[in-house]
Amino acid sequence: MPIFEYKCEKCGHKTEFLEKSGGKKKHLCEKCGSSDMQKLFSGFSVGQSNQGSDSCSTGTCPTGTCGL
Ligand SMILES: [Zn+2]
Repeated sequence: MPIFEYKCEKCGHKTEFLEKSGGKKKHLCEKCGSSDMQKLFSGFSVGQSNQGSDSCSTGTCPTGTCGL
């Protein structure tokens, strides 16, 4: 099940939610209870292929972005 990260527009608190595909469930901020949550795109869905700056130096991780 994919994990999506949401940021509360009200207090800025970030929360990760497990979300079923096709689910339209509304998420509430666990800190202030606001339903004004902005979905963040992080992790697997980001199609960046940066060479250098953020890549790991070991070259042993599958993505090359572990930062080690
Ligand atoms: Zn909040």
